[in-house]
Amino acid sequence: MASTKLEPFEATPIDSIPSTVNLCRTTFQSQKTKPIAYRLLQLRKLYWGIVDNSDALVEACKKDIGKPSFETYISEIDWCKNDIMFVTKNLAKWMKDESAPDIPLTNSLLNPKIRKEPLGTVLIIGAYNFPVQLSIGPLIGAIAAGCTAVLKPSEVSPASAMVMKRIVETYLDPNAYACANGGVPETSALLNEKWDKIFYTGSASVGTIIAKKAAETLTPVCLELGGRNPAIVTKHADPRLAARRLLWGKFHNAGQVCISQNYIMVERDILPAFIEQIKITMKEFFPKGQKASPDYARIVNNRHFHRIKKMLDETRGKILVGGEMDEAENFIELTIVQVEDIKDSMIVDESFGPLMPLLAVDSVEEAIRNANAVHSTPLGLYPFGNKAETTKILNEVTSGGATVNDAFFHGSIPTLAFGGIGDSGQGAYRGKASFDTFTHRRSVVQTPGWMEKMLDVRYPPYDGKLKKF
Ligand code: NAD
Repeated sequence: MASTKLEPFEATPIDSIPSTVNLCRTTFQSQKTKPIAYRLLQLRKLYWGIVDNSDALVEACKKDIGKPSFETYISEIDWCKNDIMFVTKNLAKWMKDESAPDIPLTNSLLNPKIRKEPLGTVLIIGAYNFPVQLSIGPLIGAIAAGCTAVLKPSEVSPASAMVMKRIVETYLDPNAYACANGGVPETSALLNEKWDKIFYTGSASVGTIIAKKAAETLTPVCLELGGRNPAIVTKHADPRLAARRLLWGKFHNAGQVCISQNYIMVERDILPAFIEQIKITMKEFFPKGQKASPDYARIVNNRHFHRIKKMLDETRGKILVGGEMDEAENFIELTIVQVEDIKDSMIVDESFGPLMPLLAVDSVEEAIRNANAVHSTPLGLYPFGNKAETTKILNEVTSGGATVNDAFFHGSIPTLAFGGIGDSGQGAYRGKASFDTFTHRRSVVQTPGWMEKMLDVRYPPYDGKLKKF
């Protein structure tokens, strides 16, 4: 069992970055990381690194973001362990060559295949809110694909970043995998290196910086960006079910979840019943209030506390439930605000915190129009209602992913590809998608020498050859 002691945050020296990347690249070029036995060994070591450091990860997530142990287990530790188990079980199958489908007999003699080849040396940049899952998750895909990798966890969750550094450095091949810690200067130094892919999770504004920098060297990117996700509750929805599920989707991690609903549109007929159920459910979930509850996280730091507080100060909406804050603890109560205007800043901006604006609408059509006007490509979508209504919403509002009649449950399915669309991101990962995102599908044909007579037709002079086809 590894130490549960949390180390103070230490940024990686910037001048060590080029040699670290160079070592990873040399190791990749040595072919060492390509055999399946090597990949499986590294994945198993990573698994045991997480198991051995579980207590430290729980403590670190508590220190960084006040995350309840239960949430750290289900959405960080077990999430990574389950993903590793799924990947190791299926890796041999995924690595197999694929034959080209539906080809004529003559082409089949060329043995056309798709080989699954690792992209090379990759950079993974994590966000702070799920500090373990969002860093280790892509790393699982990189190892499975046979890449070498440098991980850059978020410095905004510093205790977790240090535990992950310990796991990477103690359990994985030090010639192939590294963890570089730090903020903007260290990340900028990493971005000055040449990569074969950059996998980034975080805000769209920083995602733009990453994509621009990557474009200079034509480096491919996977971008997992921000939300502004609508939930729509129609008059045929069950108000108690919708209230319970949407509250779960908002209080988890104190609302610091990219796929949590950013705002809820409720058909006017059902609004009073929905609000009543919200109030009842809040009491059921947190009988002594959220501040006294061990089941409610904190805002990650004072900067984000003030960012969220400012949103609440500036809204023209009316607080229906919540509103309590304590700066000393970075505590913000889950706060339900009724807004009158789709252009309210609570809807237009991503709160990335425990704020839940409600907007009354007259019809499903109005909700769809609003959702498309706020953001044409949100990360998530949550329609509640009967089958015809939820299907209509699903058809007419696009999004990276969606859960019908629930909050962000699609993000809890570890084998389902996860990713955004448009300005909520590009590319996807988790399960097989993690392997795919770090894999090059290389088309290869092999032309036997004995076919030369058959292929003679392709050479000039072409005169008179067309009639042979
Ligand atoms: P962030 O963009 O501030 O930071 C993300 C990473 O980028 C960190 O590792 C950070 O060190 C690095 N970074 C920050 N500024 C940089 C710069 N100028 N140059 C280079 N690197 C820089 O994001 P965050 O605050 O950690 O996370 C919140 C945002 O991320 C929200 O918008 C949320 O919706 C989004 N998010 C998306 C997903 C997803 O899977 N789509 C998951 C979690 C969070």
